[in-house]
Amino acid sequence: MLSAAEAGVLDLVQESVVLRTADGRILWWNAAAEALYGARPARAAGRYAAELFAEETPEEDAAALAILRAEGAWAGERTRRGAGGERRCVALAWRLRRAAWGGEAILETGRDVTDARRDEAALRKSEHRYRNLFQAMAASFWELDFFPVGARLHALRKAGEIASYPAYFEARPEFVREMMRATRVIDVNEQTVTLFGRPDAPDPKAELLTTVEPFWPEASSGVFAASVVAAVSGRPSYAAETRLRAIDGREFPALFTACFPPDTMNKGTLLVGVIDLSARVAAETALAGMRAEMARAARVSMLGELTASIAHEVKQPLAAIAANAAAGIRWLDRPAPEVAEARLLTGRIADDARRAAEIIDRIRGMVTGAAPSAGPCSANAALRDAAALLEPEIRRDGARVALRLDPSDPAVAADRVQLQQVVANLALNELQAMAGRPAPRLDLAVRREGDAVAIEVADTGPGIAPDHLPRLFESFFTTRAEGMGMGLAIVRGIVETFGGSVRAANRPEGGACFTVALPAAEGPVAAAAHDAVNTIV
Ligand code: ADP
Repeated sequence: MLSAAEAGVLDLVQESVVLRTADGRILWWNAAAEALYGARPARAAGRYAAELFAEETPEEDAAALAILRAEGAWAGERTRRGAGGERRCVALAWRLRRAAWGGEAILETGRDVTDARRDEAALRKSEHRYRNLFQAMAASFWELDFFPVGARLHALRKAGEIASYPAYFEARPEFVREMMRATRVIDVNEQTVTLFGRPDAPDPKAELLTTVEPFWPEASSGVFAASVVAAVSGRPSYAAETRLRAIDGREFPALFTACFPPDTMNKGTLLVGVIDLSARVAAETALAGMRAEMARAARVSMLGELTASIAHEVKQPLAAIAANAAAGIRWLDRPAPEVAEARLLTGRIADDARRAAEIIDRIRGMVTGAAPSAGPCSANAALRDAAALLEPEIRRDGARVALRLDPSDPAVAADRVQLQQVVANLALNELQAMAGRPAPRLDLAVRREGDAVAIEVADTGPGIAPDHLPRLFESFFTTRAEGMGMGLAIVRGIVETFGGSVRAANRPEGGACFTVALPAAEGPVAAAAHDAVNTIV
């Protein structure tokens, strides 16, 4: 078998050494094998490898033996039971030896590679996971080789050429483009091909594996430079909204993110993600368009509700015009014509005709969505107009209207028709909130609030649930079964157009109060001041 000297030397080697017969009987093993498999050489000797090692694939021994006999050597890995009963992965090498008795013996050396294999498997798994993620993400991902740029910047900095990176880049736009040309694209995912590639190219992905320069429009160079500054100053990541360019030259808005984990940075590679924002921009544009459309639709449908009261308003000045004209003719028909009386009546006719024309203009403005004027207009008049417009609804609900106007008749910088629409919208909501409740009352008030004029539209309804208050002005927020949730959103939109604000609150005595604050305006107001200031209709 082995001489004592041979055995003594083999005990010193770190690898396990096992001498065994071709049919698996153990003849001898060294100290390292004892440490690995856990049985003393004396007790191992004579036992069979299959039983001692509890190998998971003993049938592979036959194949290994065939190779051994043909080539004189075999190497491979086996999973065996270790000293503590746990599974160990052992890298084995077999040599064929002629034994003293004339038979064959196998000299096996082994190395425990369990930990190394486990690390490798973990690495493979995380690499696999990373690859999957890289490919499957909805965002576009890029793996870039940044090494030449990093090296160049390092050298420049060492040579004292760069005191401040941002200043250096800012002063040298061509250097920034050069850095782009020196940054190579190692890999991209499918989403990148979709977003940046030319779908009809023979190999759309290969076209993208170039430098990053083609993807950065000139105007976006600053964002690239800022991301390099972030990378070289040790920040973990960088993100910015910018415009990027597809390989066919098409530009689009994008969210650009780069992360610089130290281990990939040391290798000179970095990972960049890009999210296409054109969809979001398009959605926002569509939403804005939809809002404008709905505002117009709301105006038109409100017009339906208000037609009756507008007709009423137009009829009233027309009747006055007819009556005054008839009286004027009578004064002039007298034997001694009363010219002074006739002049007075003609003046009233002119006033009434102007009022009728204004009402017509207001209707036309509502339907066509005509550009609003920025005033000045009378806040008092806006309340009175709205109350007049809603008269049929007010009468139907048996509601009272308490007007508390400001005697100084303050002017606001807003469009008269739109302001009237704001008040009418708020008041309509309030009439709806008060429907079926006893003694419904609209409290409409104007007062100065510093540099602004506050218009209050309040009710005696149930008030607003505290958790609804912050959401009230959002589009589509509604608690009414047949509601659309656009009324208050339109109100806020109009008020903000004129630099004002609107807020909602609950009144201490019960009911809701909406306050519209608008900047006070200078100059004469469009509507004539009325004498009645405090009225209850
Ligand atoms: P809609 O009337 O279609 O529901 P609005 O934007 O006009 O849409 O109103 C949104 C919501 O605000 C209403 O559903 C209601 O819950 C609440 N609200 C508005 N005005 C009042 C009010 N005066 N009293 C109580 N709740 C109100």
